[in-house]
Amino acid sequence: MRLLVHLCCGPCAAYPMPRLLAAGHSVQGFFFNPNIHPFQEFRRRLDALQTLSRLQGWELVADERYGLTEYLRQVVFDEARRCRHCYDMRLERTAREAARGGFDAFTTTLLYSRYQQHELIRERAGFWAGRCGVAFYYEDFREGWQQGIDESIRLGLYRQAYCGCIYSEQERYDREWRRAERARQRAARLAAG
Ligand code: SF4
Repeated sequence: MRLLVHLCCGPCAAYPMPRLLAAGHSVQGFFFNPNIHPFQEFRRRLDALQTLSRLQGWELVADERYGLTEYLRQVVFDEARRCRHCYDMRLERTAREAARGGFDAFTTTLLYSRYQQHELIRERAGFWAGRCGVAFYYEDFREGWQQGIDESIRLGLYRQAYCGCIYSEQERYDREWRRAERARQRAARLAAG
């Protein structure tokens, strides 16, 4: 198959891209991630992906515009569902590009991460496939989790410490926020009995 592969970052692409090539597919990587903040982090992850594409020998097309405003307009006032909006933004664009480019199908390296909402990604990708008239290629890339980590370390790729958006950056580093969140969750559990 001729596949358009949405790429979220270098470490998450390190296993799926060689795996798809080895399975006989023709692949083109596509970087579109308005959810990565702040700007220097965005550039750093894109640089890592460009390095990986050179080292592994596959083509990368990147939308290099920094999409902070675009992302925030989708999630503000609906932060609790921000990941769904975030998946939709990226999968819709990828599906549209795949349809426009005459690809047989599209897929995403979001399906590699154990930290992402795998079933929601699968469901939303299927939805956008139907909307855009192009097939969605599903594979559970989490099977290569350790292989991908080992490869990204071997290649010296930049490995980020948080998912991408400014909310996830706060969750990763703001201890006060984490304490308050744990207390909120405890209270919710007690209230639920
Ligand atoms: S936590 Fe990750 S998936 Fe969720 S909105 Fe932020 S960047 Fe997107």
